[in-house]
Amino acid sequence: MNPLRVQVAVPVPLYDCFDYEVTAHQYAQVCVGMRVLVPFGRQRLVGIVMGKQDTPFESSFKLKSILDILDEHSLIDDITFKLLTWSSKYYLFPLGDVMHCAFPTLLRQGKPYNLLARNWKITDPNAQDKIKRSLKQQDAYKLLKLKPQGTPENILTMSGIETATLKALEKKQIIEFDLQQIDFKPEPMKLAEMPLTPNPDQQTAITHINKELKHYHAFLLDGVTGSGKTEVYLQVMQKVLEQGKQVLVLVPEIGLTPQTISRFQSRFHCHIDVLHSGLNDTKRLQAWQHAQTGKASIILGTRSAIYTPLPNLGLIILDEEHDLSFKQQEGFRYHARDVALYRAYLTKCPIILGSATPSIDSLALVDQHKITHLQLNQRAGNALLPKVHVLDLKVAPKQHGLSEHLIHQIKDRLSKNEQVLIFLNRRGYAPVLMCEACSWQANCPRCDAHFTIHTHPYTHLHCHHCGLIQRMPDDCPECKHNTLKPIGMGTAKVEDGLNELFPDYDVIRVDRDSTSKVGSWQKILDKIHQSQPLILLGTQMLAKGHHFPYVTLVAILDIDGGLLSVDFRAPERTAQLITQVSGRAGRGEQKGDVYLQTLRPEHPIFNTLVHHDYRTFAKETLQERKSALLPPYRYTILLRCEARTAEQNLDFLTHIAEQLRHNSQNEIEIWGPIPAPMQRKAGRFHAHMVLLATDRARLHYYVEYWWASLQIPPQIRLTLDVDPQELN
Ligand code: ADP
Ligand code: ZN
Ligand code: ZN
Repeated sequence: MNPLRVQVAVPVPLYDCFDYEVTAHQYAQVCVGMRVLVPFGRQRLVGIVMGKQDTPFESSFKLKSILDILDEHSLIDDITFKLLTWSSKYYLFPLGDVMHCAFPTLLRQGKPYNLLARNWKITDPNAQDKIKRSLKQQDAYKLLKLKPQGTPENILTMSGIETATLKALEKKQIIEFDLQQIDFKPEPMKLAEMPLTPNPDQQTAITHINKELKHYHAFLLDGVTGSGKTEVYLQVMQKVLEQGKQVLVLVPEIGLTPQTISRFQSRFHCHIDVLHSGLNDTKRLQAWQHAQTGKASIILGTRSAIYTPLPNLGLIILDEEHDLSFKQQEGFRYHARDVALYRAYLTKCPIILGSATPSIDSLALVDQHKITHLQLNQRAGNALLPKVHVLDLKVAPKQHGLSEHLIHQIKDRLSKNEQVLIFLNRRGYAPVLMCEACSWQANCPRCDAHFTIHTHPYTHLHCHHCGLIQRMPDDCPECKHNTLKPIGMGTAKVEDGLNELFPDYDVIRVDRDSTSKVGSWQKILDKIHQSQPLILLGTQMLAKGHHFPYVTLVAILDIDGGLLSVDFRAPERTAQLITQVSGRAGRGEQKGDVYLQTLRPEHPIFNTLVHHDYRTFAKETLQERKSALLPPYRYTILLRCEARTAEQNLDFLTHIAEQLRHNSQNEIEIWGPIPAPMQRKAGRFHAHMVLLATDRARLHYYVEYWWASLQIPPQIRLTLDVDPQELN
């Protein structure tokens, strides 16, 4: 038997690599980290070479051969390769799918690495007869004929022409390509403006980090909004860029990239690239290649950019590190913050986690001396911290859901030409439709949830959990009276109310329904930055990182939702939200005020945040988690189970829990199985089971073995979430 074979990670939901046979010539060519085209069942898939072997072996069946080697060199550096294999093991997710995270879409599809450099031309102008039998080849040929000087392959790709078709035409000597020069040389960084003179806290942080540029060292840069964290990043980045190294900066969402880029550009002349899901495939490939070749000095991206190959990485910065969007919530459920910490460790470079409201997870690492805590205690310049007020909705007289005191305050700010920000984390018109006569409520037939009423573009009922849309009934389906009434407030309803209360001022609503159009968000930001009085109303989109210099009053209309949740992390999220939203107020010269409307003014979280601050809250929460042995003081894995009935879930989970208990000799504690907080969603039933252990390695040891040997019946869908952030 031919002993020459390669191990390939194929993007299928299986955990092992697959062996493929190669010729001696291929064996010499291929190396770890290259893409190969392989047969898999009836498909042809793009896989990644994970290893090669030339020792004799015995097998009862003949191995399949690889179809093609797609690269000339490995596209992944050693460290990124290690990071990916570690991630697959740590998050217990199929290796082939994880490996694909390192590549942009076009390369995942098997397109050539030099796609953007290839320019295809016709060499045989009378080849029609030779391609009569292939429609695809005829299409490609016709398109190429339009431009005798040649067409770039990425343009052909966008027109639906496949690489295989071009290869077939090339083989028949009908077309050929030449390669345009692409320059992947890095440009040395030049300073474009002078750094600011750091205040003492900033100076301490900068000095401390700069001492550790040659090793792995994790820092938590903890400073209120506006305390000058970005200036610290910039000054450390400068040192790293001066050494000719790359800096990877991760931010929670695309919306924050333009403002961050412009601050980087005003400080540094160097090559900066952005990587996020909003780019088209060609742009993404281009930016990725700049990063992967070392041309890009600064790579700014969202979560998935953590897996970009970077040959020359010298520093990782993760801004707004508490933000939940760093954790992928479906499929491969990795946490970019944890992956980033491990990446920095492998790279032997420093990492800075920055936040005004550090996660309890990171503060626990500080507590365990795994992360160095750096605090910025002053707001840079003269900006003062806002004052927090709690408004008791049980006693306050109200109009349109706003307490009269708040209305009075808003009026006052607007008359002084200041801006107001109103926050409500609920889009739509109203969250419930109810009958006043018989108490009937409009519920989604497929979910355990109320329909939300929407009034645009017409009045209808919408389920935010499964997407179902229904006509709004005129009369109550139960008692037939004309007594249906919207209960509660969504942003659309508050917008109507504000327009009525403040007819002379602009009300700008920002939520998923109002800003879905490309560019509309930028227009809104432009308007906010002209210093006119206006009211900004929106959901959590407004809570993140933006600068609103003219906002002096912030109101959170309904903070109670977060306080009622069963999730032990809910108070942490609520405190972060209040502090982050508050951080939008008073960043300019004026002092800001924050109003919280609640039905539970006695809740301890308000007392802590009004009389103290987030840090006090965090300290208390850390202590509570420690004494209750909750994460991060225990490691957890959440199993989510989905089936057609609740019994199927519970039976199956009970059965596999028994196996695990037996195998793990009680080193793992098992909570549940219990129905998920929303048991029925889109017609399917959901249940949970949580695995907890004090020792991370032991937890993984048992679960890995158990998970690999599980027999999952076809009617059950089971997913696993390592270090879950949300229990839903
Ligand atoms: P953060 O990132 O913590 O929210 P920024 O770095 O954006 O804070 O700083 C807030 C504002 O303060 C910015 O306008 C910035 O230019 C200014 N600033 C930061 N550091 C200094 C400094 N040392 N001296 C003067 N202004 C500063
Ligand atoms: Zn009724
Ligand atoms: Zn639904």
